[in-house]
Amino acid sequence: MARSVVAPGRKSKAVDAFPPFPRRFAPENLDAGSKQALDPVFMDLEERPLSSPEDLVRWLEDWSELASVVSEEEAKRYIDHTCHTDDPETERRHLEFQREIAPFVKPRWQHLKQKFAACPHRTKLDPDRFRVLDRTVMNEVELYREENVALETRDAELVSEWQKLSGAMMVYVDGKDRTIPQASRVLEENDRVRREKTWKAIAARRLRDRDPIDAIYDEMVRNRDRRARTAGFANFRDYAFREKGRFDYTPDDCVRYHEAVEEIVVPALRRLHERRRKKLKLKVLKPWDLAVDPEGAAPLRPFAKVTELVGGVRDIFARIDPALAKLFEAVRDRGNLDLDSRKGKAPGGYQYTLDAQRVPFIFMNAAGLQRDVITLLHEGGHAFHAILSRQDPLLWYRSTTAEFAEVASMGMEALGQAHVEVFYGKADAARARRVWFEDILKIFPWIATIDAFQHEVYLRPDAPAADRRAMWLKQRRRFKGGDDWTGFEEEHAASWHAQMHPFCVPFYYIEYAIAQIGALQIWRNAKKDRAKALEKYRAALTLGGSRPLPDLFRAAGTKFGMDAKTLKPLIQAVEDEI
Ligand SMILES: [Zn+2]
Repeated sequence: MARSVVAPGRKSKAVDAFPPFPRRFAPENLDAGSKQALDPVFMDLEERPLSSPEDLVRWLEDWSELASVVSEEEAKRYIDHTCHTDDPETERRHLEFQREIAPFVKPRWQHLKQKFAACPHRTKLDPDRFRVLDRTVMNEVELYREENVALETRDAELVSEWQKLSGAMMVYVDGKDRTIPQASRVLEENDRVRREKTWKAIAARRLRDRDPIDAIYDEMVRNRDRRARTAGFANFRDYAFREKGRFDYTPDDCVRYHEAVEEIVVPALRRLHERRRKKLKLKVLKPWDLAVDPEGAAPLRPFAKVTELVGGVRDIFARIDPALAKLFEAVRDRGNLDLDSRKGKAPGGYQYTLDAQRVPFIFMNAAGLQRDVITLLHEGGHAFHAILSRQDPLLWYRSTTAEFAEVASMGMEALGQAHVEVFYGKADAARARRVWFEDILKIFPWIATIDAFQHEVYLRPDAPAADRRAMWLKQRRRFKGGDDWTGFEEEHAASWHAQMHPFCVPFYYIEYAIAQIGALQIWRNAKKDRAKALEKYRAALTLGGSRPLPDLFRAAGTKFGMDAKTLKPLIQAVEDEI
């Protein structure tokens, strides 16, 4: 059965939220999955004479249009695949793009970047408008190596293998095979025996695939290290910092962040866990005791059906800003939400913008949990970012690097906290809020663990899987709370396998810490002046990626920073709130 993730635009009021941008350059019916069709469009850009700064600007806009069409083709195939990893046809189409089209377009983009770098009019462009684009393109020109294209293709294949293995994991609970997100619901229940049994079943299922997953990761790490060395870097860490366009902080700043977390957040997390242990009247907290309500209340169950999740989150947006709720409805009416957890779906959640239509798509695995409400608020924030910056003719400026992109999403989680009553009575709403703040005390150390682990992994790329397990446990000892894993050493050493980032998007994680620091500042601003905080949030999102990172933070009414001085008052405020 042919599947299309993008429903044809319905004739309804909601469609007005996304007026189309008629193409000026790429043919409307261009098949971006066909090399033959793409070739002449690339040729036009490659061969066009650029005899003035105005020519150059027009050329950049045309390039942006073609890049949007190609990006959308890749997005549609990726979305289709992650929604149906068990459908061989979606896998074939996704891999076809990665194996055929990506290696075809990458050298062509490179050609355009070099043409830009060599263009004498480049330096005459308005720096205020083009500084960020110029910096980004020049960085990519310097990093690019033809030999690396094949290695990147292989990386995408390995990611797909990991997704297939993880998506196929099922656990037998209550007489039925369930996905891991579905089974994890039991971990919030009060019956400790059931929690233990389910946690063990999940951990055992993951452990069963430990060796094949380690083998995938082995190849990923070596492959990535080779890419870095090919580009003239000593290791993949330094390469990844440049590749991600991290112009405003260094690996040393991350190390200082790890130290700040150890000093400021880990003690707060251990205090939190100690209170939990006492309330639960336990001698030791085991890993299956972390998600249950310590007061013995029934698990938060904000919704039963995905339609209720969508309706409730819409109502939260409406209370924050009715205009945002309208945008969210428009995404829904377009058919661009795939939210339920089912067999064969890739794990996790994401927002992916269809760049030619300039419309967001949201993917997640909702299982009826409070966490799902947070995830949809989060991805909704990304979607607003895409929509508010969609007017910009330059694709480069319709998104930004993750450090601020995640302020849009986490900022929306923070702003949504005041309105979780939409899903709950008064007591449960207070509890849901408390959980969100408690999660902040957990997330900063978890980010430090994942980040410090990856720093070590890529500085020793030939380390065997057993050494990596030791590296992981070392970081866990530094950053973990009061949970006791005695008797589950193997499970503990492999527990990072559940985290998609080291596999799919290496080094992409510290961004969440930087962004959470921004989001907490937005939350504090909103406590003082709700309207002004929202106005600044929207203003910063509208800038998309057109400004450097510190400017975007400033526009949002926040300060860019990840040191102890910035972190301390925020953690203090979070502990006060709890
Ligand atoms: Zn996000």
